[in-house]
Amino acid sequence: MKSLASKLSFFQESVIREMTRKAIENNAINLSQGMPDFSPPKVLIDGIKNAIQQEEHQYSVTYGRPDLREKISEKLLSYNKLNYYPEDEITITCGAGEAIASSIMAVTNPSDEIVIIEPWYENYVPLTRLAEGKPVYVQLNIDDFRLNEETIKESITDKTKAIVINSPHNPTGKVFTEQELRFIADLCKDEDIIAITDEIYEYILFDDSKHISLGSLEGMEERTITVSGFSKTFSITGWRVGYVVAHENLMTGIRKVHDYLTICAPSLLQLAVLESFKLGEEYFSLLKKRYQRNRNFIVDELKKLDFKIVTPSGAYYLFADISSFNMNDIDFADMLVKDKGVAVVPGTSFYNKNNQLENIGQNYVRFCFSQKYETIEEAVKRISNLLNGS
Ligand code: GLN
Repeated sequence: MKSLASKLSFFQESVIREMTRKAIENNAINLSQGMPDFSPPKVLIDGIKNAIQQEEHQYSVTYGRPDLREKISEKLLSYNKLNYYPEDEITITCGAGEAIASSIMAVTNPSDEIVIIEPWYENYVPLTRLAEGKPVYVQLNIDDFRLNEETIKESITDKTKAIVINSPHNPTGKVFTEQELRFIADLCKDEDIIAITDEIYEYILFDDSKHISLGSLEGMEERTITVSGFSKTFSITGWRVGYVVAHENLMTGIRKVHDYLTICAPSLLQLAVLESFKLGEEYFSLLKKRYQRNRNFIVDELKKLDFKIVTPSGAYYLFADISSFNMNDIDFADMLVKDKGVAVVPGTSFYNKNNQLENIGQNYVRFCFSQKYETIEEAVKRISNLLNGS
């Protein structure tokens, strides 16, 4: 029989989703895949009921419902300081995942280089491979997850097509500072690079950290593709409603890919997410408060257990250094899910596995804290005897 496409050999199935399967198998608390274990806001549930009553069962316009795009454009202007036209510069996608896929495919020619910041959210690399691009990895400083300007500059060649930025960042919880974003913006302008920015955690911020959209910086509007969605902000990760925003010149290509890849995002759910715009400031501040409480608790508890942690400023993950346990990430995650009943993601899933040098990820695991406070309390209880080895 003929063989499968050779580009598939460059990556494996998602480890995050594999850990969810292992969590189910072992009846473990799932702190691996980033999804809440509580209900979304009631207006959204009512939104679905209403959408069913309205019999919204057929395809929507490929680019997404016009009224939803209109609402998103208003939100982009007020929250992100981004000014894009709903008619031809905003497209509703099947989650932020499809938005990123369509964007990478739309800009990548075979052997174009796509700069990806390590550790990365695991979708970026396979999608670059599927687009026949070449991922170029640039590591964040491991001691504080800061961007190393020199390393990024060195990674740029005449084949560099795009750079993928994710802020707030998965898996570290880093929120890129204005200074870091300005550096990236200048680099993109000087070297003629497209920025693809994944801002799906834009409302999950701690302490006094602020979200800045890369596309809002001077001169970036035309060369930035901004991705976000409703999944994380409204706790509806399974609805798969996201969006992508870009200048018309880029959007023409993104829409071509989107059109043939998925036709449209689910119509029923596009109608239902419209209800989210009824939620005001109070909702967003409660969301922050909820996750801030989780973060404070889990960071404190894990530190007591000898994990080394750079405290996350946003998103709902922490990337914990496990070097005090004398185990690699895979064995550690395996032990945790089987013996303690807590699923986390091994750190190597967020690093380039073909790196011949030591893979830094083997000293880390990712904990997700998007669950109910009680769930996290229980997970911490289950691992509380880690240090005495019982
Ligand atoms: N973004 C989430 C995570 O990193 C969900 C991953 C996924 O399964 N798409 O866990």
